[in-house]
Amino acid sequence: MSTQENTPQENTPGTEPVFNRIALIGAGLIGSSLAWASRKKGLARHVAVTSRSAATRQRIAELGFADSLHEDIKGAVTDADLVIVCTPVGACGAAAEAMAPYLKPGAIVTDVGSVKQAVVRDMGPHIPEGVHFIPGHPIAGTEHSGPDAGFAELFEGRWCILTPLPGDDPAATAKLRRFWEGAGSMIEEMDAEHHDKVLAITSHLPHLIAYTIVGTAVGLEESTKNEVIKFSASGFRDFTRIAASDPVMWRDIFLNNREAVLEMLQRFSEDITHLQRAIRWGEADTLEQMFTRTRAIRRGIIEAKQA
Ligand code: NAP
Repeated sequence: MSTQENTPQENTPGTEPVFNRIALIGAGLIGSSLAWASRKKGLARHVAVTSRSAATRQRIAELGFADSLHEDIKGAVTDADLVIVCTPVGACGAAAEAMAPYLKPGAIVTDVGSVKQAVVRDMGPHIPEGVHFIPGHPIAGTEHSGPDAGFAELFEGRWCILTPLPGDDPAATAKLRRFWEGAGSMIEEMDAEHHDKVLAITSHLPHLIAYTIVGTAVGLEESTKNEVIKFSASGFRDFTRIAASDPVMWRDIFLNNREAVLEMLQRFSEDITHLQRAIRWGEADTLEQMFTRTRAIRRGIIEAKQA
């Protein structure tokens, strides 16, 4: 099987699709959610999908979210108006290289990677003249992965960050914005460096802490480990959910956002040393002031409907 066609999707009556044909490279949580959202909201007339493994392609065929399913990138991107790379960050460069000869002039290429400077570095050089390259990152996800994990509503009410490159065509960015807005997202534009700094503290460092705390607990002796699971509702459970996130995806994020993560980790280490000292010396005011400040942050997130 090189290409498999499904019956065309139904578009929402009265709305014009943003794109004629979109191609998804990789269809795990994010790729399959984009396919479902595109179909449900009529954002594209045709959703072409490719994934590297036969097992994933088989599952995609069973789930039925692709209008056409392709064994290779060439089949998926040929004649596509929008190509979205939905693989781990470390695979984006190779995907761009493989698709380059088959991209249609005027097409838009984007991605969903959680790091942006590395994606610009790895994909940028392969994008041909006349094709628009607009990196992106939906701030939406779960700890689940694979094509079964996706759902059409994943992006609703969530931010999507676009990092257009200097000199990019504003009309192409506007079209990509319309696509994400159609999927339910709110859009923010910023440069890739700023994105990587912000995400290092809001997402990457929390994941590193969760992986560490769960790893530390697992490293304890057997009897304590049992109690960790038994009493997990007392805070630990939330960390285990985050620490269940896809290992390959997170490996690539840390390797590709090294500088920003290390900088945030340094600040974090200083702050935790400060708290350690307050506990050691019984500095009640220091602890209470800190916890009062952080509580207000949580309230702010709830008010912004991002809880
Ligand atoms: P996922 O569920 O694990 O799916 C990954 C997809 O990429 C699968 O289709 C897989 O194909 C393919 N893939 C994996 N390694 C590859 C390689 N070396 N070469 C080519 N294809 C490869 O991952 P996801 O959660 O959708 O994440 C995809 C991207 O979205 C990542 O860059 C991540 O940083 C970003 N992101 C994730 C979240 C989140 O919460 N999960 C949120 C925002 C952004 P096979 O199954 O065929 O191997």
